[in-house]
Amino acid sequence: MIKTKGYAAASAKAPLGPYAFERREPREHDVAIDIKFCGICHSDIHQAREEWGEAIFPMVPGHEIAGVVTAVGSKVTKHKVGDKVGVGCFVDSCRTCAQCQRGFEHFCAKTPVFTYNCREKDGTPTLGGYSDKIVVDENYVLRMPDHLPLAACAPLLCAGITLYSPLKHWQAGPGKKVAIIGLGGLGHMGVKIAHALGAEVTVLSQSLRKQQDGKRMGAAHLYATSDPDTFTKLNDSFDLIINTVSSPMDWNQYLGLLKVDGSFVVVGIPDKPVPVAAFSLIHGRHSVSGSMIGGIRETQEMLDFCAQHHVACDIEVIPIEKVNEAYDRVVKSDVRYRFVIDMASLK
Ligand SMILES: [Zn+2]
Ligand SMILES: [Zn+2]
Repeated sequence: MIKTKGYAAASAKAPLGPYAFERREPREHDVAIDIKFCGICHSDIHQAREEWGEAIFPMVPGHEIAGVVTAVGSKVTKHKVGDKVGVGCFVDSCRTCAQCQRGFEHFCAKTPVFTYNCREKDGTPTLGGYSDKIVVDENYVLRMPDHLPLAACAPLLCAGITLYSPLKHWQAGPGKKVAIIGLGGLGHMGVKIAHALGAEVTVLSQSLRKQQDGKRMGAAHLYATSDPDTFTKLNDSFDLIINTVSSPMDWNQYLGLLKVDGSFVVVGIPDKPVPVAAFSLIHGRHSVSGSMIGGIRETQEMLDFCAQHHVACDIEVIPIEKVNEAYDRVVKSDVRYRFVIDMASLK
């Protein structure tokens, strides 16, 4: 077994603290990774605080994992020692269902094996990336961009693919007008990727406080949603709106901003069901859809796209001792734009 150091939550009420545990020795198809950086995703906080139902404790969160390969199993062909690699939201899936066969492992009919707060096929609880080492099957390990800072690429593995997948699916590109609601960890990736895809990007944010940042990331326009005029001015404007915000809002107002055949796509997760009026849909043949991360093939495509277009996340790097403080700041949306833990601080 491989001795591993990390940070874990012992219970829903407990702050995260140092935790020693063991990883399996690499099997034939496994890759052993020294974790260099791990992003902090809002869903880490929801799960560590057991806000999404029954959780497995002790919990080592983290699914934006970037590191370097230190060993490979005898049958590994996809990665070699020294490669910069990443691990995202899941580390296995059934591999046989129709979704897995299509490369949609994230929609696996038997549920993917999530990187933490889940169980391996043999029942072992999965422990995530707030740790110095991880062992993962080669088919669920991604190649990271070679020429971009590894820390800034870690959040691509959740925040990046969460936006890339719907932008591609709904064909954001030249001639398309795309609005991103919210300029946080998810939203800022949406702006950068949609811009790199060639779309005209508008940020819809509560205030104009982040205007400079939004423009720097590639937004052509920013509008404050606290200003009621915004909704009159932008009526019938967008081919695609991606909503990254999980706090309560009236979706019907935003549906009015879509052109005919426009789509409103949800990637944020509000606590409660949101009412949608039929008239918001039938007038303009509008759609409301959702999207969740992406499969391995598409995640690799996203990483290659980001490498080619020099797209990475805006991050604040922190030592792991500050993880609890960082959690409180994420909850208050006080981060520009993603926290990334430097795992050297574990030593
Ligand atoms: Zn995430
Ligand atoms: Zn499956």
